[in-house]
Amino acid sequence: MRDVIIVGSGPAGYTAAIYAARAELEPLLFEGSIAAGGALINTTEVENFPGFTDGVLGPRLMQQMRAQAERFGAELVADDIVTMELTGEVKTVTDSGGAVHRAKAVILAMGSAYRKLGLPDEERLSGHGVSWCATCDGFFFKDKDIAVIGGGDSATEEATFLARFGRSVTVVHRREELRASKIMADRARADSKIDFALGCEVEKINGADSVESITLRDARTGQTRDLDVSGLFIAVGHDPRSELLKGQIDLDAGGYVLTRERTTRTNLPGVFACGDLVDHTYRQAITAAGSGCSAALDAERYLADQA
Ligand code: FAD
Repeated sequence: MRDVIIVGSGPAGYTAAIYAARAELEPLLFEGSIAAGGALINTTEVENFPGFTDGVLGPRLMQQMRAQAERFGAELVADDIVTMELTGEVKTVTDSGGAVHRAKAVILAMGSAYRKLGLPDEERLSGHGVSWCATCDGFFFKDKDIAVIGGGDSATEEATFLARFGRSVTVVHRREELRASKIMADRARADSKIDFALGCEVEKINGADSVESITLRDARTGQTRDLDVSGLFIAVGHDPRSELLKGQIDLDAGGYVLTRERTTRTNLPGVFACGDLVDHTYRQAITAAGSGCSAALDAERYLADQA
């Protein structure tokens, strides 16, 4: 029986592991089977994480957090948790091999996943022009025409990044106004390679074996037109990875885990949640790390009260 099991390997999970390990709780952390390190693995320069005057590469930052957690004795496992039973006093989580792990407390730090457009050809052409990760796939679109779907910070960041590679980048957003922060929007607007199709929705993705064009529909007039692109980057938001928690833990309408007052406590005693799994608003590495710290401290206090 463990004191603490942590699920998730982003800034929230690793920070929780650092604090829990330093408190001698010997945490067991499940990192996921695909890529340890969470969302920042898919980005390049992180310029806003305090302590790095000249910025730091996302994967490098996450390697450092991982190594720091290991240094204090956190046990890290590159596997997925596929079921959780969190309602009782003893919590159990089951890994992909069917092994059941038990703990007195669980910290949930599963982050959130890229949202899809829900178009018929989106999956078929995924990896053949359709992408959710400019950092991973931008290079393949050198001197090509690209569309970025979305109007928030992610979309404008991706557009600015892709403009380094592409011949042109068109930001398509269904509203007339971008949702992005002023600094991000201004940066994109100042880039001569970036164009905007505002008030437009993607109706269709066209192409036999790879993306050749997208059909846009003007939200006001209903008129359609084709935009020739070979790359389609989708940046329309994220969904919290809370599927395993449904029916056990209080979630809000968007699927984010609800926490109590200004803590990381959930409605279940001994279960704590942090990072983008709970956060609609800030969604930054530093806020995820901060709430991972809070979750470990909340778990530590909970365990002390149980002893
Ligand atoms: P995540 O980083 O999403 O990590 C969650 C991890 O848990 C994932 O690895 C996932 O695979 C794993 N997991 C999920 N379910 C399970 C399971 N069942 N079993 C095991 N493991 C599981 N923020 C900044 O502050 N500065 C930036 O410059 C910045 N740039 C960004 C650029 C991009 C392209 C993106 C997508 C995000 C960026 N962010 C940035 C936001 C930042 O990355 C997130 O806010 C932060 O990573 C959230 O951390 P997290 O720990 O909550 O979740």
